[in-house]
Amino acid sequence: VIQPTIVLTPVFPLREGLIDPLVEPLKKEIGFPVAVESSGFEAEFALDISRQQYNSTAILAALIHQFDHREGVFLGITSGDLFIPVLTYVFGEAQLNGKYAIISSWRLNNELYGLEGNEKLLSERLLKEAIHELGHIFGLYHCRNLSCVMRSSTVVDEIDMKDTSYCARCKSLLTQTFFQS
Ligand SMILES: [Zn+2]
Ligand SMILES: [Zn+2]
Repeated sequence: VIQPTIVLTPVFPLREGLIDPLVEPLKKEIGFPVAVESSGFEAEFALDISRQQYNSTAILAALIHQFDHREGVFLGITSGDLFIPVLTYVFGEAQLNGKYAIISSWRLNNELYGLEGNEKLLSERLLKEAIHELGHIFGLYHCRNLSCVMRSSTVVDEIDMKDTSYCARCKSLLTQTFFQS
């Protein structure tokens, strides 16, 4: 049984205090070891000047470059606003069946929508995005179960409707992937 270590790494700009609260809940939900690697990197190279947003695919490429020789799966965490060219924004992006993903807190922050800041809610939303993108890394597609963390969400309200966990079906798919004899 191979249980890859999940490595969380900062991609700056990054709001303080976002990574550490992810560690224990991720261990609990996914069951793999979780480590924080503080080296990280600046996402400035991925900034699109006209959009004032960061190209998430370019950041993924940089994660691959930085960690290519390493065992494990790598989740970059940023507070920069991410996009891919065909979409206005993305909450995150992952390599399906790969090793790399990036998530952003930018669109998860209540203050962006003119509401009062809520650190607990921000942290919970980021955790859901982390579990979701890691699910893609581990081969899961989007799920139609309303409360499953693998359900696709395009706005924060949809994130809030999901649980911080995989549904029984997604969980069993994960289990098959990692625990087949
Ligand atoms: Zn997804
Ligand atoms: Zn599901």
